[in-house]
Amino acid sequence: MFQSKDGNPVKTISKKGSLSGIGLHSGEKSSITFSPSDSGEINFIFKNKRIRACVENVTNTTRGTSLGDLQTIEHILAAADGLGINSLEIGLSAKELPNMDGSALPFVAALIACKPKALKQNKEPIIVKERIFLEDQNASIEILPYEGFCIDFETCFVGLGKQNFTFNESTNFITEIAPARTFGYKEEVEELKKHGLAKGASLENSLVLNKKKGYVNVARFEEEPVRHKILDLIGDLSLIGRPIKAKIIAKKSGHKLNIEMAKKIAAGFYDKIVLKS
Ligand SMILES: [Zn+2]
Repeated sequence: MFQSKDGNPVKTISKKGSLSGIGLHSGEKSSITFSPSDSGEINFIFKNKRIRACVENVTNTTRGTSLGDLQTIEHILAAADGLGINSLEIGLSAKELPNMDGSALPFVAALIACKPKALKQNKEPIIVKERIFLEDQNASIEILPYEGFCIDFETCFVGLGKQNFTFNESTNFITEIAPARTFGYKEEVEELKKHGLAKGASLENSLVLNKKKGYVNVARFEEEPVRHKILDLIGDLSLIGRPIKAKIIAKKSGHKLNIEMAKKIAAGFYDKIVLKS
């Protein structure tokens, strides 16, 4: 994200913290330990292996974003990015991150408890100078030059119809985006369970949809799914490793297109198509 007010400092935490839950697909217990770092990078540590959070390490974008063997890393990265934290070590006990309540809020709360602190260095933002447009069937993502940071997202889900939400400098990430939960259709969750997936999914840790009637459980926001799509996009774009100055227009975009865009922006930065200030 682009946070002009505090000049995009390298930001870490002051003390260690941890939390645990279960993986959405594995249904297995998964614990996380946050540790301070002055590296200017976010690194996951699993079984003594260090995996940097960057687009080059993305291995899968089906039902979540994977880095190496690690699954569903986008919500924790969105939580860190939403708080401006970009220098951190995340120790893991399992390869699938805990789903918690399906949103980024528990990660945000745990990181706030670790007392975020800005270091002396700054992270230069990538200033997008050219339009990039990507599409895949009926989904698209577009990035445009813009003085600041803004995401316009539109979704259209069966049973819900069109939903729109705009995230910009005046949106409060903690109260308006972080609480939006992951979601799925009841029928599809049952099908996934048959295939050994979504083992940890329940009405307590996801927003459940019905193709005819819309929400099965109570939504936290009228347009909770589109807010969650913004949350996913923020997590995916944080893999660029730098704040960006741009406007993003996304229609039905998911992890696959999000990551393709993140790769283009990161590559463009080095190719000087997208120039640093
Ligand atoms: Zn998500």
